[in-house]
Amino acid sequence: MIIMKKGASQEEIDTVIKKIKKFGFQEQINQGEDRTLIGIVGKTRKISTDIFTILPGVERVFRILKEYKLTSREFHPQSTIIEIDKVKIGGKKVVIMAGPCAVESRKQILDTAIAVKQAGASILRGGAFKPRTSPYSFRGLGKEGLELLKEARQKTGLLVVTEVMSAEEVEMVSEVADILQVGARNMYNYHLLERLGKVEKPVLLKRHFQATISEFLNSAEYILSEGNKEVILCERGIRTFDSEFTRNTLDLTSIPVLKKETHLPIIVDPSHGTGRAEYVIPMSKAAIAAGADGLIIEVHPNPAEALSDGPQSLTPEQFSEGVEELKPFIKTAGREL
Ligand code: PEP
Ligand code: MN
Repeated sequence: MIIMKKGASQEEIDTVIKKIKKFGFQEQINQGEDRTLIGIVGKTRKISTDIFTILPGVERVFRILKEYKLTSREFHPQSTIIEIDKVKIGGKKVVIMAGPCAVESRKQILDTAIAVKQAGASILRGGAFKPRTSPYSFRGLGKEGLELLKEARQKTGLLVVTEVMSAEEVEMVSEVADILQVGARNMYNYHLLERLGKVEKPVLLKRHFQATISEFLNSAEYILSEGNKEVILCERGIRTFDSEFTRNTLDLTSIPVLKKETHLPIIVDPSHGTGRAEYVIPMSKAAIAAGADGLIIEVHPNPAEALSDGPQSLTPEQFSEGVEELKPFIKTAGREL
């Protein structure tokens, strides 16, 4: 990691980059408020930091000893804000993503999209490709689901976040999605992560239900190290010993920990985190209090008939009332909706 002096010239920066390339490494530049930070990616242990310390315009050179580097706050002290059209994720505004677990029909997705937009959501969620525990469960409408999401996007102006399950499907899903979702089960799918590192689209990376925070950050590093800087982390609950009352244990401690460790925005999924509709809004309040940058909430026009995740889905009315309930919490947290 090279920290350039305040006011270092472009020529000095270029000289550093040239040297990095000469050794066969890659540079990652982070333009800070008053100085340029240059990360060197590769097996840098074989060279001495002095090689760079002596160059003009260089203030300091040090090694980031953690496994994840580009993901770390050491590399990127200021929080990353991801801007998609007019929506900013990671800024002052709390971003709400909402919609059904899966796209089931034209009417279902359009009705839900209109309702969640009216209630204050800026991003529509909905799976077209669903990773299900049983191969006999509803696994999504596939391509047809993507087409329906596209229509919902056109009709409402909402951005779309939807899951991509394999590296081969990245291109197809990218045609519709504004944000590519990596499901919890795929957090360890390093081929998929590497592929997503090469696209110019933000990625919503969900934490695997058995993943340590460090493994989660390393998965983000797989994407960043391939060049894609737009990763949004999503805490969606982990498996502990109680599955009688809740589906997962929503690890809210991970939020301040991640805020400290990384510059990437963090959103919380209280739907999968709890598995029960009645706990979604209470845990949303807690997530905002803990510093989350946004929420992703499952909403279905008729949860009792939902083809997946009905018990944790809010009706559009419950969602709308829930967002109203969240407003004072958002304000108290020093944030806006
Ligand atoms: C989902 O968002 O519907 C989903 C399948 O979530 P997860 O990957 O977190 O289980
Ligand atoms: Mn779901």
